[in-house]
Amino acid sequence: MIAIVGGGLIGASIAFELARAGADIVVLDAGKRGAAWRAGAGMLTPTGERLHGTPLDELAEHSLRLWPDFARSLARASGLDVPFRSGIEHVNSPCLRPLDPSTLRPHEATTHPPTVVRAALHRLDVRRAEVLELEQVRGGVRLITDAGPLTAERVVLAAGAWSGRFGLPVFPVRGQALLLTGSPGLPARYSGKRRGFPLYGLPRPDGHYIGATVRPHCWDPAPRPSDARWLHRAACVLWPEADTLRPQTALVGLRPGTADDLPIVGALPGWDRRVLVATGHGRHGALLAPATAQHIAKELL
Ligand SMILES: Cc1cc2nc3c(=O)[nH]c(=O)nc-3n(C[C@H](O)[C@H](O)[C@H](O)COP(=O)(O)OP(=O)(O)OC[C@H]3O[C@@H](n4cnc5c(N)ncnc54)[C@H](O)[C@@H]3O)c2cc1C
Repeated sequence: MIAIVGGGLIGASIAFELARAGADIVVLDAGKRGAAWRAGAGMLTPTGERLHGTPLDELAEHSLRLWPDFARSLARASGLDVPFRSGIEHVNSPCLRPLDPSTLRPHEATTHPPTVVRAALHRLDVRRAEVLELEQVRGGVRLITDAGPLTAERVVLAAGAWSGRFGLPVFPVRGQALLLTGSPGLPARYSGKRRGFPLYGLPRPDGHYIGATVRPHCWDPAPRPSDARWLHRAACVLWPEADTLRPQTALVGLRPGTADDLPIVGALPGWDRRVLVATGHGRHGALLAPATAQHIAKELL
C-alpha cells in the first residue's frame, strides 16, 4: 500500500495517477483550514506567471499540455464536470482599457481546483487524519497519526504549506481572493502587477474569481476586510466592461512556498526511496499538478 499524506491539489492528483495505474492507495488528509486548493484560482498560465526562461519553463509547458487529457480523465472517472476552459487574455496596459487581440493566449486555460480535488479523490480510500511523524519499520514506514498508527510500503508527503513538520524547507505564502456575482460572460484575464502582485480574474462555476494577495510567512487563514475591499475595486478595473460585480465570498489559502520558488519533488534523503516528497509548488500547484503526478507515479511504479 502507498500512503499519500495530504489530499490537496498535489496529493489528490498523485493519488489519482497512482490509482488509475492500479496501485493500492490510502490518502490521509488533516482537513487544514487554509489549505491552498480550497482558495486556488485555477489559472493555467505560464505566460502570466512569467515562467518563460526560468527553471520551471519546460515543466510548466509540459504540464499545460497534459491538462486537457488530465481533465477528461478526471471527469470520466468521477462523473463530475471538471472545468477546463481554453483562452486567457493578457493585459499589460496600466489602465486596462481596449484590449489588443494579440494578447489572447488560446492554449492557456483555467480550471476549478476544488472540483479537481473532489474528482481526483472520488472512490479512493480517503481518511481524515493528521500525520504527526514517520518511523522506519521493516518493509515499510509507520505513520503516526492523530487517528492512530498505520503502516505502508511507501509514502508520498504532499502536505503543502505544512510540510515543515517533516523537515522540509517550506513556508506559507498567504493569498486572499474574492468571489463575486453579476455580469455573466466575462473573459479570463491576467494583468501586470498591481500593488506589487499580479492581478487576474476568471469566471468559475461558483462565481467570478479575482485574486490574489501575496503575504509570505503568514499563517493567518482568516479573511481580511481591507483585502476584500481592494480586490472588489480591482475586479472593476480588470473587467471595465462589467455592469455590476457584487462581493460574495472571501477565500484564503496558504500556498506552499520555497526560498527559490521551485517545488521539491523526489525521494526524501535517508529513507531508502520509501518516502517521496511533492511540495513547495507555491503559486503553480494547479498548473504543475499533472506533471508532478506523472513524475511521482513513474518513480513509484
Ligand atoms: C489565492 C490562491 C490562488 C492560487 N491560484 C493559483 C492558480 O491560478 N494557478 C496555480 O497553478 N496555482 C494557484 N495557486 C496555488 C495552488 O493552489 C497551490 O500550489 C496548490 O494548492 C498546492 O497544492 P498542495 O497539495 O501542495 O497543497 P494544498 O492544496 O494546501 O493541500 C495540502 C493538503 O495537505 C493536508 N495536510 C497538511 N498537513 C497534513 C498532515 N500532517 N497530515 C495529513 N494531511 C495534511 C491539508 O489538509 C491539505 O488538504 C493559488 C493558491 C492560492 C492560495
